[in-house]
Amino acid sequence: MPLYEYRCDNCERRFELLRPMSQADSVAACPYCAAPAVRRTISLFAAVSKDGGGGSRLVAGSSAASCSSCAGGHCSTCGH
Ligand SMILES: [Zn+2]
Repeated sequence: MPLYEYRCDNCERRFELLRPMSQADSVAACPYCAAPAVRRTISLFAAVSKDGGGGSRLVAGSSAASCSSCAGGHCSTCGH
């Protein structure tokens, strides 16, 4: 389930909530002052932010760009 960060319009404190995507933009009650007026600031997927291994593997796979057919880093496909 995605983790969303909200900021309370009333007391300006931040808090995080795990909610279904379908409720991401619905009004949430502030846990500090109980005001119903809060604003979503950022959203993170809990699976990525809480799991360091999965997150770093995702980054390495996209930035290193090594192709699967050249473990040695040398082929015409990837240009290395
Ligand atoms: Zn508040």
